[in-house]
Amino acid sequence: MPDLNDLSRPALAAAMRGGTAGWGVSGSSAEHVRYSEPIPPRPGRRRNCHCGCGGPKTHAGRANGVTLTTACELGIVRWVKTGTVRPTPAAAPARSAAVVQLRPRP
Ligand SMILES: [Zn+2]
Repeated sequence: MPDLNDLSRPALAAAMRGGTAGWGVSGSSAEHVRYSEPIPPRPGRRRNCHCGCGGPKTHAGRANGVTLTTACELGIVRWVKTGTVRPTPAAAPARSAAVVQLRPRP
């Protein structure tokens, strides 16, 4: 059981929704409530985000008190929503939909 006073607001909200069993010990992006926390700034070079924005990693994607991924703020917002940091090509039509229908020759 974590000290709830030590948790950030997003972590606390996730703990309220998902419980604190195994908090900080094991976290699953599929089984636990995902939330975003800013990474405390550190001296030195910041790693670049892999979502495609080219910016620095500024936020951590966490579940059950465990950091599972890091990316830019937008990437982590996306991860909290969908479980993926990269944008999903939801608007792109499925490949099978692009198949040309051949008309039978007369
Ligand atoms: Zn990014």
